[in-house]
Amino acid sequence: MEFMKISDRLQEWLENVRSFLQQEIYPLEQQPNRFDDIESLLNEKRRKARERGLWTPHLSPAWGGPGFSLMEFAHISELLGRTPFGHYVLNCQAPDIGNMEILIKHGTPEQHQRFLRPLINGDIRSCFAMTEPEHAGSNPVMMGTIAVREGDEYVINGHKWFASSADGAAFAIVMAVTHPDAENPYQRASMIIVPTDTPGFHLVRNIPVMGHAGRGYFSHGEIRFENCRVPRENLLGSEGAGFAMAQERLGPGRIHHCMRWIGICERAFEMMCDYAARRELAPGKPLASRQTVQNWVAECRAEIDAARMLVLRTAQKIDHEGDYAARMDISLIKFYVANVLQTVLDRAIQVHGGLGMTDDTLLAFWFRHERAARIYDGPDEVHKTRVAKMILRQYGAKI
Ligand SMILES: Cc1cc2nc3c(=O)[nH]c(=O)nc-3n(C[C@H](O)[C@H](O)[C@H](O)COP(=O)(O)OP(=O)(O)OC[C@H]3O[C@@H](n4cnc5c(N)ncnc54)[C@H](O)[C@@H]3O)c2cc1C
Repeated sequence: MEFMKISDRLQEWLENVRSFLQQEIYPLEQQPNRFDDIESLLNEKRRKARERGLWTPHLSPAWGGPGFSLMEFAHISELLGRTPFGHYVLNCQAPDIGNMEILIKHGTPEQHQRFLRPLINGDIRSCFAMTEPEHAGSNPVMMGTIAVREGDEYVINGHKWFASSADGAAFAIVMAVTHPDAENPYQRASMIIVPTDTPGFHLVRNIPVMGHAGRGYFSHGEIRFENCRVPRENLLGSEGAGFAMAQERLGPGRIHHCMRWIGICERAFEMMCDYAARRELAPGKPLASRQTVQNWVAECRAEIDAARMLVLRTAQKIDHEGDYAARMDISLIKFYVANVLQTVLDRAIQVHGGLGMTDDTLLAFWFRHERAARIYDGPDEVHKTRVAKMILRQYGAKI
């Protein structure tokens, strides 16, 4: 199985990342209020990561990265996923990672200079604004945000929400309708780069998610665009290509998420086993002696391993054959791994009893935060329907 092979160079990277997380990042998890006011501390850790040569592991050497394949990066992403801060300190976190990739592919030299370089250097952050409160995000062609050309400018009006990390971002990549009359609904929208200090760009609020309104990098922003004017040069790619580019962004993006989730699963699994072995229900009778717990341990092991193999196989397919050839595999891992994650976290919390409900461990944070895994980048139902249709059409089903 080629996708399980790890080269010497990747092994060296993985060991370096592992020791960096151990020395510098895991101790941060002990901080009270660990997700508020931590950005400056994390930025300090970013500087250290960069000094150790651990920076933008997803990028090619042309952009200052190590030039790993997507499959190789998946191994690094799993390791980073073991802590909520992992991807951020190596500057390969969503949504910046997707924005970097799309800018590299479709940005002009001026856009590279102004937006991409500072993003790669870690001097700024960005966000991606597509979903709208008034329209179903599962069917984004119904988008209401419009960008009208006036002379050398686009004038944007609309309403977005759930733009992750919008608070403190320097720019947003905004999906807006530029060609409402295009016959093909997938050719109506474009991507436009909007600096967040542009007049008419209003960050309305950081949306509370599962009881917590994150700030800065951990935020999810609601944004209003009111006659927000940007120059024509801020168009990313060509007019009407927004949905095609969004699909390009989401393919590898789903691999990144899935491997991060597997990192969380592994950490939760370790916590569950460790606690089950230590917690005594009666003298000499640890939780681990109960068959229910043993079943959970065995089932989690099988499910996590299966999830990893599916994701690596998909990453390998994208590397060799491209996103389009792997589209069914991408949908399959998106719902499968998100559900493995929920199950593993739920069992780990149950084993921890009351402790699992507190914020003394990371389990409760992950349980709240990662419930969204079954919704963002396409809800379970959308991906299941896509997989099922592709299979059933091979049997002649006219659906
Ligand atoms: C934590 C978080 C972070 C996010 N980050 C971003 C971001 O950075 N940028 C951004 O633009 N968006 C972001 N989103 C938005 C996310 O992508 C959307 O929430 C998602 O696409 C679903 O859209 P919706 O919320 O409008 O749900 P809707 O489309 O209204 O769907 C509601 C529910 O209907 C069901 N459903 C939908 N379609 C079907 C179907 N075909 N068959 C059966 N059932 C169906 C599903 O159960 C779904 O959950 C984020 C969301 C969350 C929760």
